[in-house]
Amino acid sequence: RKGTAIITGASSGLGLATAKALAETGKWHVIMACRDFLKASRAAKAAGMDKDSYTIVHLDLASLDSVRQFVKNVRQLEMPVDVVVCNAAVYQPTAKEPSYTADGFEMSVGVNHLGHFLLARELLEDLKSSDYPSKRLIIVGSITGNTNTLAGNVPPKANLGDLRGLAGGLNGVGSSVMIDGGEFDGAKAYKDSKVCNMLTMQEFHRRFHEETGVTFASLYPGCIATTGLFREHIPLFRLLFPPFQKYITKGYVSEDEAGKRLAQVVSDPSLTKSGVYWSWNKNSASFENQLSEEASDAEKAKKLWEISEKLVGLA
Ligand code: NDP
Repeated sequence: RKGTAIITGASSGLGLATAKALAETGKWHVIMACRDFLKASRAAKAAGMDKDSYTIVHLDLASLDSVRQFVKNVRQLEMPVDVVVCNAAVYQPTAKEPSYTADGFEMSVGVNHLGHFLLARELLEDLKSSDYPSKRLIIVGSITGNTNTLAGNVPPKANLGDLRGLAGGLNGVGSSVMIDGGEFDGAKAYKDSKVCNMLTMQEFHRRFHEETGVTFASLYPGCIATTGLFREHIPLFRLLFPPFQKYITKGYVSEDEAGKRLAQVVSDPSLTKSGVYWSWNKNSASFENQLSEEASDAEKAKKLWEISEKLVGLA
């Protein structure tokens, strides 16, 4: 039978390119988990995806109610859930003031981490009951949260500190809106959220890999300088960032190529190892990459897991 993969944020950028790459193989049905139904539907058509190769289901990660409703709606489809890809993200580098999710969490961490945390926890049950030979849960990471890299050392650097802001509810009411308890900084909040993504993947691996056989993985697909992720950046940045990445850092990767990379992590029979953070070298060959000290700190991962459980109502 065909595999079924859920991809969040499949209406643009990496998520769309991955959905397209998987659909084109004829071996996958993609559940596009998107906040804007019409945009997703237009994007799938414009990408030339066969209409039988995907189903769009509404998901707004900025609302825990929407996440719970999404899980119910997916169950009603009566399709197996074989792979889940947590891909959607917001990046607000120029925001002067924080914005908030429906549950009152700072937006970047609320969407990128907490919404996905609840989603992944709920869908683990569905993954468990699938009979697919290689079941996977993938959480997209990033180099920018990795302070052992050049890109990860561009200030403001990711730093979760002792997680006091997160423990306080990340809501600016009696607690900071930043995980480490500091002043709001949109670029840092994004990087912090990506560290959370990478820590969460590893904690899933430690807690559930042996018991469930599910492969847990993260990746850095390369710098896809053309996606909507940079939509809130200043115009000059948006003009210069793609050529800078192409010719100076040489980290640039097209949306198509990045989509093929993530599709490999979804389906390639050689990428079944769990607990791994995948990257690609200059020849587009995948390798197991090292995470920074903070992004591989098992104690922090456990603490993050426990606080996140409370915030999303699982504990
Ligand atoms: P895009 O902005 O193109 O895509 C992000 C997607 O997330 C969009 O489909 C967007 O929906 C969706 N999204 C945002 N907020 C929500 C929400 N509240 N609920 C549901 N969906 C939401 O960016 P990219 O494709 O670049 O980013 C995809 C992933 O790749 C992210 O995890 C990012 O961190 C990661 N990444 C990107 C890199 C890059 O260079 N671009 C590098 C490394 C990692 P909508 O279409 O409605 O706006």
